[in-house]
Amino acid sequence: MKAVRFHQHGGVEVLRYEDAPDPVLQPGEVVVRVRACALNHLDLWERRGLPHVSIPMPHISGSDVAGEVADAAAPNVMIGQRVMLQPGVSCGRCAACLAGLDNECRHYEVLGYRNHPGGYAEYVSVPVQNLIAIPDTIDFARAAAFPLTFVTAWHMLLTRARLARGEDVLILAAGSGVGQAAIQIARLHGARVIATAGTDEKLERARALGASDVIHHHHQDIADEIKRLTNKRGVDVVIEHVGEATWPKSMRALARGGRLVTCGATTGARGSVDLAALFAKQLSVLGSYMGTKGELLQVAQLFFAGELTPVLDRTFPLAAAAAAQQRMEESGQFGKIVLET
Ligand SMILES: [Zn+2]
Repeated sequence: MKAVRFHQHGGVEVLRYEDAPDPVLQPGEVVVRVRACALNHLDLWERRGLPHVSIPMPHISGSDVAGEVADAAAPNVMIGQRVMLQPGVSCGRCAACLAGLDNECRHYEVLGYRNHPGGYAEYVSVPVQNLIAIPDTIDFARAAAFPLTFVTAWHMLLTRARLARGEDVLILAAGSGVGQAAIQIARLHGARVIATAGTDEKLERARALGASDVIHHHHQDIADEIKRLTNKRGVDVVIEHVGEATWPKSMRALARGGRLVTCGATTGARGSVDLAALFAKQLSVLGSYMGTKGELLQVAQLFFAGELTPVLDRTFPLAAAAAAQQRMEESGQFGKIVLET
């Protein structure tokens, strides 16, 4: 098959469109003909190389996949079925997995990260429980743009922060995958959304998606604007994934009883906490990683019903994966960048 692989860490130039061995079908698994694969920041980090993380080479990235079932070593699977894939792979038999908390499994891996070859390829193999059938009304590019960011945003807002109707939510980086998903999910659950972005065009698009107010994070101070917009009260929930660059402002933006949820640290992983504010204001700082398979099935119903729609930025052919990653490196996108095969 054709695939985009890297044989060493580095810039986008290490991505090679080349021949690669077809995946070997294992018992309990299916092989999917990939039609679309969305990019995530994870793809950039593992290409550049991460401290203390070993990536077997050559490596195929890609966590968000949609396509058709090509072959199956599992019962009750229809060849040709249109599917999108659960991006989390877990053991399926530990206490966490059996409690439905598969993203807390010790053997949890993200498709396309580390040991599990991903969707920057014509074919990918996954456990049968990772298949989610998609209706004919949903095209492959949009299906690929859905799973990782929507399950992440859902887990952050509803499971971790326990968002309630009428609450105020600050969502950082509206144009990011998690940002556009979180705006839609928060609105659907009756929250008031305040979103940040770095260009006027992105701020307009954030409003169109459902943000009541927007903050230009290069020209305005996020914490000051939040105090102004909430009559000095602060917000109930902050959706963080930017890290060092915004962390102090995100903490300052919280109302009494506020919850800050983080799923990433794009600008660096160090952040401090004012312990006096933490206890006196009864704040919560919550970590969040992906979401469970059950949660993705739940949020997918809202996608299929037209209540949630992943925002597509641009599509590229698989062979142009380097150009697609370059666009993400430059933060030019609003929504998801998708490779088509
Ligand atoms: Zn497990």
